[in-house]
Amino acid sequence: MCKRQGDRSRSPRSAPAKGREPLLFTPGPLTTSATVKQAMLVDYGSRDRLFLDAVKDVRSGLLAAAGASKEAGYECVIIQGSGTMGVESVISSAVPSDGKLLILSNGAYGLRIATMCRYMSIAHEVLEWPDSEAVTVERALAKLREAESRTITHVAMIHHETTAGVINPLEALARAVKGEFPEIRLIVDSMSGFGAYDLRMDWGIDFAVSSANKCIEGVPGFSFALCNRQALEQCKGRSRSLSLALYEQWQNLEASGQFRFTPPTHALLAFRQALSEWQAEGGVSGRAARYRANYEVLRRGMEQMGFEFYVPEGHRSFLISTFVMPAHPNFKFQKFYDLLAAHGFVIYPGKLAQGESFRFGSIGRLFPSDFQLLVAAVRLACQEMSVDLPLK
Ligand SMILES: *Cc1c(COP(=O)(O)O)cnc(C)c1O
Repeated sequence: MCKRQGDRSRSPRSAPAKGREPLLFTPGPLTTSATVKQAMLVDYGSRDRLFLDAVKDVRSGLLAAAGASKEAGYECVIIQGSGTMGVESVISSAVPSDGKLLILSNGAYGLRIATMCRYMSIAHEVLEWPDSEAVTVERALAKLREAESRTITHVAMIHHETTAGVINPLEALARAVKGEFPEIRLIVDSMSGFGAYDLRMDWGIDFAVSSANKCIEGVPGFSFALCNRQALEQCKGRSRSLSLALYEQWQNLEASGQFRFTPPTHALLAFRQALSEWQAEGGVSGRAARYRANYEVLRRGMEQMGFEFYVPEGHRSFLISTFVMPAHPNFKFQKFYDLLAAHGFVIYPGKLAQGESFRFGSIGRLFPSDFQLLVAAVRLACQEMSVDLPLK
């Protein structure tokens, strides 16, 4: 018994590298603060007043984070599960059986919405851009102006496309679409953008979805939809799913402050703490400043080693950095991944982008000093693989 415990403490799986926990340089779940983790060390019942107060704080705090409020005609609905479930809740509840959704897609998350539509038999069309480019207002408007587009009732887009790290022109697009087609409802997946890039509902957004474990730095367990109340009321009776019914979830939260089914109690308490840390850091501007500082350390270090970005600077985000896979024959991604992991640097294990590439996230409870360590670990990993630097 003793021997086995001793063995386990030496195994790279259970032993924190260099006396610390692994750092996550991923798109989520992310590294969280100790205080966010500590907020979960209490068990509240789902009908406990203390828990219901936390739900209330979170719902109003999230509306405020998007420049919105109940008084101004907006609502926040929390949905149990991962971010995809929040998007699916909105898509399945908002688009009526005789409606049609236009999806502006420049990556895997746009295409995922199209997949949802296929599962639910929702009429849809995809307008596609390469995953290293941003969607454009001009092409979107040109599409909506076509005679055959008169049947389109809803438009969906991604705010920050996490696939390669592209920031889409959300404000310009929302204003332009609403200016010319005020009857069209706009649905935004802002999963990885919310909290780090501005998002205001009054730009003309009807539904914006994000989740607990991205830029607000909570733990996984739920997503949330910020909704224009009129658009939300139109969802009544439309949902194709019981557990993901957005209108019914909202009605229940309004009537009793409670969830219809078991709520993610601990994740919610963690999130309330995360949201107050986000506010204390200065909201979007404070968080963006730290993430941008992280990105700058990474950019300088990687460029010095000769790594090339996959996304051009103009629409590259400071949240996810995708690098072209080096052509050097000794550069093996699995080996690279394992070497970094052995030193406690967890990166995203798979490729999502169309081109051969790998990516790092600069989000989560990470600081520029962590990125200096990451850059040093990348250099060391290249040495260990006998990849000469700088790359040519
Ligand atoms: C992370 C992410 C999602 C999905 O989140 P899950 O929690 O994995 O379901 C959806 N869209 C975008 C843009 C994301 O970054």
